[in-house]
Formats: sequence, structure tokens, C-alpha cells
Amino acid sequence: MRDETKLIHSGYTTEPTTHSVATPIYQTVAYEFDNAQHGADLFNLAVPGNIYTRIMNPTTAVLEQRVADLEGGVGALAVSAGSAAINYAIQNITSMGTNIVTTPQLYGGTYTLFAHMFPNQGIEVRFADGDSAEDVGRLIDDKTRAVYCESIGNPAGNIVDFEALARVAHENGVPLIVDNTVATPILIKPIDYGADIVVHSLTKYMGGHGTSLGGIIVDSGKFPWADYPEKFPMMTEPEASYHGVIYTEALGEAAYIGRARTVPLRNTGSALSPFNAFQILQGLETLSLRMERHCSNAHVVAGYLRDHPKVSKVNFAGLPDDPYYPMAQKYCEGNPASLLTFEIKAGFESAVRFYDQLNLFKRLVNIGDAKSLACHPASTTHRQMTEEEQTKAGVTSGMIRLCVGIEHRDDIIEDLEQALQQA
Ligand SMILES: *Cc1c(COP(=O)(O)O)cnc(C)c1O
Repeated sequence: MRDETKLIHSGYTTEPTTHSVATPIYQTVAYEFDNAQHGADLFNLAVPGNIYTRIMNPTTAVLEQRVADLEGGVGALAVSAGSAAINYAIQNITSMGTNIVTTPQLYGGTYTLFAHMFPNQGIEVRFADGDSAEDVGRLIDDKTRAVYCESIGNPAGNIVDFEALARVAHENGVPLIVDNTVATPILIKPIDYGADIVVHSLTKYMGGHGTSLGGIIVDSGKFPWADYPEKFPMMTEPEASYHGVIYTEALGEAAYIGRARTVPLRNTGSALSPFNAFQILQGLETLSLRMERHCSNAHVVAGYLRDHPKVSKVNFAGLPDDPYYPMAQKYCEGNPASLLTFEIKAGFESAVRFYDQLNLFKRLVNIGDAKSLACHPASTTHRQMTEEEQTKAGVTSGMIRLCVGIEHRDDIIEDLEQALQQA
């Protein structure tokens, strides 16, 4: 099936008991065992089936299958938020004394997790100077367990060269983890370019309506964990926290995603609510249509801002003079979603005045809603950073981030025009 069809059908066939066409919301905590043996078999991963909603749920399972199909993975694990997905994706393969190497252009919450939480748990995070394979490769050593990047940086709007990053990761025997939130699998499928693990905030374009938090980890099934037993003993040696199971033997190519479910999720519990899984499934049905409109509106807004006398700079990889234009052509047919940043010539105070004058655009910290959204990163999402860290992450004090919605383009431009006039 093609993406447009997968978005609507993947993961669900009409439920045999009630013949419900819509995916039912299984609002239950537990599932009854047929007998003691059945319970034991389920816990031994010897038969498939449901145990407890912290670990799995039939509504959530439809979502997991759908996103795994879209990204081209062997399996997926949905969790309560994108932040939880990123945390588990890394916790699953790191331990005290190891490190990960990341590109510097990151979502603000990811930056805080990497810079302030992981180091306290003994996991070092090495921030590369830029997003090139050379900058990243320079920091990898024998304690490195993963390379991390965002496919389209939020808010920097940079687009990484996945093929080069995957190559440098694989040459060093570690997986590439890609946060694909901004691109969505409609614009970029990182696994096609060598990514091993994909994470998402489903809260954004995937759910698409600003109603429900959610996150997901997708496993390509391609990383050869068993080739590196000294690096990834959690995959190749008996798991003490799950009665001695050896994941690469028990689950084969789904070892990573199976362990993410039965160790980090099972023991720390950032489970997705079945109702949110249902809401996100509803959103996914229209993702390809919405992305078309988000992208075409973003091109109109970027061109308008570039030509505006009060605007000094627009960062949008869909514009031919943007440094990431070639990457946008290579990886997403020139459509880097609808996230863009710009600066007003007159500086910080004018930017704030512009921001306060917006009517249609909502002032908030979110992206990927059907509604047009605006944010001032330096005072909100990236406020924890020093000025130097902000510069590396692609944030300046007078910068405004827009996430262009799917309203009529003329209404969007009219709102920007009246606010710019008053800036
Ligand atoms: C929002 C966001 C996250 C965090 O997702 P939540 O669902 O809010 O926890 C992670 N990465 C990117 C790129 C994001 O935009």
C-alpha cells in the first residue's frame, strides 16, 4: 500500500466481535488470562497477547502498527509523549559510563534532557559543533552507543545529511537515532537513508490538531546488535530484569523495540492512554492532505517574508538561497514542512511588538497544529540555554518561529502584514 492508504488502514481490520469499522477505544487496564498456563506463557513472551495496559493495549497497537508501516520499520512502541520516546530510545542502549553524540540543533526539551539529565545518570552527551558527518564523527569513541539528530531541526530548520550520518555511525558500530517529528514520514523516511531508530512526538503534525500528547519509537530492525556484544550486552546477554530473556535470540530483528517495551516502558510506565491513541489515529488519517497544505502555505509565507522590507532574515530550506536548500531537494522534494523562523530588522523589541499584534496566529509553544502558531524561542522553548548554546542551536534573541497552519493563505498573510506594519 501507498502512504495515503496506510494512513487510513494500516494496523486495523474490522474487529470480529462487534464489526466496528472505527478503531475501538479499549479503555481497560488488564486482560483476563484463560488459565494459569496462559498467564505464564504471556509473561514468557511464548505466546502473543495482552497483559496490562502499561505494556500494551489493542488501540495503541493499531497506532504502533500504522506508524511502523509508514516509516518502514519492523515494530514500534507508542508512549505518553515525544519526550518519553526520546528518553526510552536512548536509555534502552546506554548505561553509566557510555556516551551518545548529537547534532547541536535540537528541540529545547531534548537539549535539557541531554545537557542536564543524562549526565546526572552517568550518560555523557557530546554536542557536535555542527550537523555534518565530520563534526559528529570526530566525537565518536569506543564508549559511544548512538548518534542522534533531528531530521529537520526544531526550530533551526536545518536538514541533516542522513546518508552521511548513518555511514559515520555504522562505520563506528553504533546506530543512528533520528527525531522525525517535524518532517513526518510523509516528507522524509529516515530508515530509507540508513537510520536505525526513528522517534516522534505524535503531539505535533502526526496527531495534527493540538489535542493529544503522544510519542513513538520505530525500530528499523536493521541494526546488527549481536555483532557488537561488548557494546550492547543488554541485547545479547540474559536480561536480569526480565527473567533471563536474551532479546536478540527471543525476538530476532525486533530485539530493540521488544526490550524498549519490556524494560524501560514496563518499569517506568510512560504509557500512552488508549483515548490519545484513538485521537492520534484520527489525525493520521488526514496527515498526507494536511502536509500538502502546510507545505504550500509555508512556501507562500516564506516568500512573502523574504521580500518584506522589515524582515532581515528568513530560515526556510524551501528557499533557493537557504544553506539547507540542497538537502531539502535531496531528502524532501523541497518541502521542509511548515516550520520557519525569521528576524525583524529593527531587532528584539520590534519582534516582541510584532508577536503581540498577531491575531490569527496563536502565541504558544507547539507545532504541527492545523492552526497557525507563533513562538519566541529565546524566551520560552530555548530559555534554559546560554547565548552561545542558543547560537549553536540556531536560536537568536529577536527570532520568531512560525508553524504555518492549514487556514486560507490570504488570511495568514493578512495577519502577518498587519502585525509587521505595527512592529
Ligand atoms: C515537541 C517535540 C518533542 C517533544 O514531544 P512532546 O510530545 O511534547 O513530549 C520532541 N522533539 C521535537 C522535534 C518536538 O518538536
